Amino acid sequence: MAPSCSPINSLHVAVIGAGAAGLVAARELRRESHSVVVFERNTEVGGLWVYTPQSEPDPLSLDPNRTVVHSSVYDSLRTNLPRECMGYSDFPFVPRPEHDESRDPRRYPTHREVLAYLRDFAREFKLVEMVRFGTEVVLVEQDGRKWKIRSRNSDGVSRDEIFDSVVVCNGHYTEPRVAQIPGIDLWPGKQLHSHNYRVPDPFKDQVVVVIGNFASGSDISKDLTGVAKEVHIAARSKPSETYEKLPGADNLWLHPMIETACKDGSIVFKNGKVVQADTIVHCTGYIYHFPFLNTNGYITVDDNCVGPLYKHVFPPALAPGLSFIGLPWMTLLFTLFELQSKWVAAVLSGRVTLPSEDKMMEDTNALYAKRDANGFPKRYTHRLGVVGQAEYLNWIADQIGEPPVEQWRNKELEDGYVRLATQSDTFRDKWDDDHLIAEAYEDFLRQKLISAIPSQIFG
Ligand code: FAD
Repeated sequence: MAPSCSPINSLHVAVIGAGAAGLVAARELRRESHSVVVFERNTEVGGLWVYTPQSEPDPLSLDPNRTVVHSSVYDSLRTNLPRECMGYSDFPFVPRPEHDESRDPRRYPTHREVLAYLRDFAREFKLVEMVRFGTEVVLVEQDGRKWKIRSRNSDGVSRDEIFDSVVVCNGHYTEPRVAQIPGIDLWPGKQLHSHNYRVPDPFKDQVVVVIGNFASGSDISKDLTGVAKEVHIAARSKPSETYEKLPGADNLWLHPMIETACKDGSIVFKNGKVVQADTIVHCTGYIYHFPFLNTNGYITVDDNCVGPLYKHVFPPALAPGLSFIGLPWMTLLFTLFELQSKWVAAVLSGRVTLPSEDKMMEDTNALYAKRDANGFPKRYTHRLGVVGQAEYLNWIADQIGEPPVEQWRNKELEDGYVRLATQSDTFRDKWDDDHLIAEAYEDFLRQKLISAIPSQIFG
């Protein structure tokens, strides 16, 4: 995998999606001299961060023929990581322009600020000119040594085109995973997935059970406490005796998972507590979904493991023509998108070479064997975690001759996750790692990515 000395190939590449992953993929591919078409079914860039008050008609999103609403962002959402560590390496996510009152300078800003940042990024690097908006990719398949893409525009007109390579950046927070609850078929209440949650108002005076206690579950339960009568969180990871009144509200309780749902409307938790509930909100995550992809069964999604994929990016038998950006989670996502994109762009141009198909398969099987030996379920295959993510990102950086990820960035992620888990009601406004903010801004200044430290940062 050493940098190669052969001449640079300039390829015709399709990118699917103009979210945070697709935008940086387009930039890196163009930087590497490829010609790029980005297919985006929405009418603007930003992907998940394009908030819409609209949600899907099927509140659990189980109907495969439903009209899909891409974004899972709720109105009150603020980032769950500090902004300094979220941005791309050469375009930091700093408050800009400094005195624009429509912008949110906070360290954990609202979803609107992330969208504004992505729009700034697209403008700064002239990415919009590569995007075909209102164009959905409905089929991707091999055509000899090339790839056929069938797309459909907003007038319903289909078109087939041939590309040398396809980079999949379609996001993976749109297809909900729903909890299995004994007795649920007879339970008379309402259910929805967090994908379709926007504002708390419809839950006024209700007793709501929220399943899941990570980022969205924790946020949505707090959001609900302002209007609901009672909010009960069911957390799979909690021991069966758990029963706690949570701080920050007088109508919020934490339980272990649900034991059963009953036809009289009650919900029984594993701690034996019973509540008469109106609604269950499933904050239980998402599944990877590539409805457009036809690889004759080579790539499968099995218990949320997408494979086989070398280093979560290249399917060994189809590399480098097909690649995936952004599958791993519990990591510095924008950094990951950027490094994976640089790697794909450099492999396609021939500047960096991949190992043989057999070697890639060996490596992929070794990852699966390690996962199994550690007792992790398949659905954790793409979960990197604090230590694994630094190793993974630095490995890619090394392949393409980039410096390792900054220590302050990794530490912000690590400390950020600890705060998220231990002070879920205050982590966005109280922290004790100002020294990391200082390091980040000094780094931006040193690299001339900003001209001064914005006045809001330390005071
Ligand atoms: P997306 O943003 O989902 O973009 C995918 C794009 O592909 C979309 O524009 C979509 O329209 C398009 N598309 C999909 N299918 C097709 C098709 N067939 N044809 C054409 N176009 C298609 N990350 C953080 O770093 N910090 C946070 O604070 C944070 N908070 C989050 C909160 C929530 C509630 C969720 C769900 C996720 C959060 N994330 C956060 C993770 C977030 O997903 C990533 O930050 C990132 O924005 C994902 O970018 P993406 O480009 O991979 O996917």
